[in-house]
Amino acid sequence: MARLPFIAGNWKMNKTVGEALDLVRELKGAVSGVKEVEVAVAPPFTSLHAVHKELEGSSIRLAAQNLYWEEKGAFTGEISPLMLKEVGCQYVIIGHSERRQFFGESDETVNRRIKAALAQGLRVIFCVGETLRDREEGKTFPLIEKQMEGGLKGLDGQGMGEMVIAYEPVWAIGTGKTATPEQAEEVHRFIRSKIQKLYSREVTEKIRIQYGGSVTPENIRSLMNQPDVDGALVGGASLKAESFSKIVRFKEM
Ligand code: PEP
Repeated sequence: MARLPFIAGNWKMNKTVGEALDLVRELKGAVSGVKEVEVAVAPPFTSLHAVHKELEGSSIRLAAQNLYWEEKGAFTGEISPLMLKEVGCQYVIIGHSERRQFFGESDETVNRRIKAALAQGLRVIFCVGETLRDREEGKTFPLIEKQMEGGLKGLDGQGMGEMVIAYEPVWAIGTGKTATPEQAEEVHRFIRSKIQKLYSREVTEKIRIQYGGSVTPENIRSLMNQPDVDGALVGGASLKAESFSKIVRFKEM
């Protein structure tokens, strides 16, 4: 079964509303006419509404970078799944390594967030990935397995084919060090085999696995040539329309 490539830009804590609108306007032009690649942008919360309005009529999807699992209440500083739906988000990134590293997210809180997102009909980009130390100690696979089991705990196969898993080796994020296509494929294959153990063959074939970690216009093609790499979650290179659109247009390169 052919999986639709999915390229998403994680803007992290970058861009004011004005800058976000400039970027997305340029991006709309730069990716117009691209077929058979799904594209999404994940601006900070403050720009979601304005970017959603700007994207009306475009095929670029809107993603948030995080959410909180409660519906509403006394949770100062948090954003609920419904609030994200209301401003036009179709996707939400959950469990990014920066959230795990700087904001204390655990597999358990990632799991709560995933459940809350799915309950509200948001599609999830679920991030997993090992640190350099894990890799050097030969713990990559057990760590990814633990993150997957923890993050997906209690979720049956219902709608799981719609989920996106982003494999993001922490040592490759924002460092300019990309995993080789072979290293990426090895872990992507492992993730898919784990999905097969947890769910059905149908889910396994459908689920898309993105690679993330210093993706550029120069390395995207060789990564996308791998059979289990179905797309990319792009940080730094998504902040400019020129580089992000080249990544989106990887088939033409
Ligand atoms: C990311 O933040 O998800 C990421 C992959 O960042 P970068 O592309 O800058 O390494």
